[in-house]
Amino acid sequence: MHADIVVIGNGMFGSAALRHLAERGHTVVGVGAGETLNNGEAQPPHRVYSSHNDEARLTRRQDRNAAWAQVTGRAVSNYRELERRSGISFFHDVGCLIASRPGGDGVSPDPRVVMDETGVDFTLYPPGDAAWRNTWPSLAFPDTHFVAHEPTPAGYLRPKRLIQAQNVLASNAGAQHITDTVVDVVQTATGFCVHTAEELQITCTRVLVAAGAFSNFNNLLPSPIDVTVKSEVIVLGEVTPADAAQLGKYPTVKFMNDPGDLESIYMVPPVQYPDGCYYIKMGANTTHDVFFTRLEDVQRWFETDPDQVFLAMFEAQLRALWPDVAFTSV
Ligand SMILES: Cc1cc2nc3c(=O)[nH]c(=O)nc-3n(C[C@H](O)[C@H](O)[C@H](O)COP(=O)(O)OP(=O)(O)OC[C@H]3O[C@@H](n4cnc5c(N)ncnc54)[C@H](O)[C@@H]3O)c2cc1C
Repeated sequence: MHADIVVIGNGMFGSAALRHLAERGHTVVGVGAGETLNNGEAQPPHRVYSSHNDEARLTRRQDRNAAWAQVTGRAVSNYRELERRSGISFFHDVGCLIASRPGGDGVSPDPRVVMDETGVDFTLYPPGDAAWRNTWPSLAFPDTHFVAHEPTPAGYLRPKRLIQAQNVLASNAGAQHITDTVVDVVQTATGFCVHTAEELQITCTRVLVAAGAFSNFNNLLPSPIDVTVKSEVIVLGEVTPADAAQLGKYPTVKFMNDPGDLESIYMVPPVQYPDGCYYIKMGANTTHDVFFTRLEDVQRWFETDPDQVFLAMFEAQLRALWPDVAFTSV
């Protein structure tokens, strides 16, 4: 098999790259590993996971700096058009609430600074002004924090559906998809040869590596790129279908709590997961985050049961932020 360009990885970035390249007329093949499930069966040594294998990802323009805000703004401004062209909906522009102490949390700067710099429209509720609770009474933040509301088009997207939308449009423009794991990329006299776990060989003139956190593994690159790979923990708080209907239009939340075991907390309002249940998702950076340089250590982390003491901290924080919600499980 031959292509102008092989895109390795079919996640949030690889699927977008595949579409853009195909729509610009390149002969392009996307090779992406399928979803890896921890079902107790022995896995091959090259197995990879992904960062998007979930039901919701926050989108907002408020971020650490103006450059990120601009890039996010440009991406978000294309979502409705992508939905229309692909026929697949993935974007929920429910807005975003950002709660922070004035001055930021010591990790990220004061969110108002970035929003002012980039012209992001927002409504500000200073510390002690709880008027925001008139609209979102089920949430609770400390009185020491101001609350900023970034309106639509902030919100969240369904990452697997976004990838599906990109892939549909890429296919329509002539891209080929292969579900397989690349295990080696070899430079040849005329370009590259991409080798897969299923023993396929694809020759090409260029390779675009979009393997996310797994880009430095499986011999994809001539030398490692400078990237930090870390664990990310989330909890899912199950709510009843009635609560999901009531809270479903709540904004996403970025809660910049004081430094401690959990930092930079983010939440998504109730979303239906593949098991049919509705969950509020909460994630955070933590003092227990693990940093990886070897694939086998990443694999072991995915296969290990979560630390129960630590999960209890997540649960306590989730319940504190939603004091009136009767979670059926966390
Ligand atoms: C728990 C969690 C919560 C997050 N929340 C947010 C959020 O709310 N908002 C936000 O903006 N971002 C969030 N992120 C980050 C966001 O998900 C990532 O930035 C995004 O998924 C990165 O896209 P990517 O294409 O680089 O990597 P991925 O989405 O991981 O895609 C890479 C793909 O390449 C495949 N691959 C890897 N190696 C190979 C190989 N050798 N051969 C073939 N295929 C390969 C992988 O299987 C994967 O499918 C979160 C991440 C995590 C983990």
